[in-house]
Amino acid sequence: MTDFSKVSSALEKKGFKVSVFSSGSDAVSYLSETIREKTVGFGGTKTAEELGLYETLDKFNYMVWHWKAADYENLTPEDTAGKKKIHEARNAAMHTDVYICSANALSEDGVIVNIDGAGNRLSSTLWGHKKVIFIIGRNKIVPTYEDAVWRARNVAAPLRARSLHKNTPCAKGELKCCDCSSPERICRGMATIWYPMQKQEFEIVLIDEDLGM
Ligand code: SF4
Repeated sequence: MTDFSKVSSALEKKGFKVSVFSSGSDAVSYLSETIREKTVGFGGTKTAEELGLYETLDKFNYMVWHWKAADYENLTPEDTAGKKKIHEARNAAMHTDVYICSANALSEDGVIVNIDGAGNRLSSTLWGHKKVIFIIGRNKIVPTYEDAVWRARNVAAPLRARSLHKNTPCAKGELKCCDCSSPERICRGMATIWYPMQKQEFEIVLIDEDLGM
């Protein structure tokens, strides 16, 4: 089992609630037992998708996820109906009781880093929900804040650009950020969360599996 003690302790000292699981299925069971009859919004999160978390929570809650509103990854520029549904779902997810997403990286001293293109995920992790839950696989944990920014920019973002078939250098060539000026650039903003925001409860769910990008 991965030793999460350093990162858990750093997060708890700052006021984050931390829950550690040896498997994704244990984490999903825990979340499905603790989140009931709530409105739940999801950010773009491959981690949750890989865990089947939406489908499990959907049995007990009112769910909103723009990835389910239309064929998100294969949306064409001409699909205006699909784009409208995604836009509406993103807006609706900003007003749920609980918001769930992952992180591009988490440093061992307890700093969460996320990059976003549309900005809905960043916004919701900063304001607007009673509770924010980050679900983070062991592969996202790095020693320092500088490593976390590097991972977000050079691993998570290029992999995401590739999965979305973006016309960006990182999606087509080397898996590395070159700070492109492509119109399809997906890295538009980055949030660094040092401490829980004052008006939201934060829980960090750490899982001893490689999850997401
Ligand atoms: S800034 Fe451009 S090259 Fe860098 S990761 Fe984002 S999309 Fe890729």
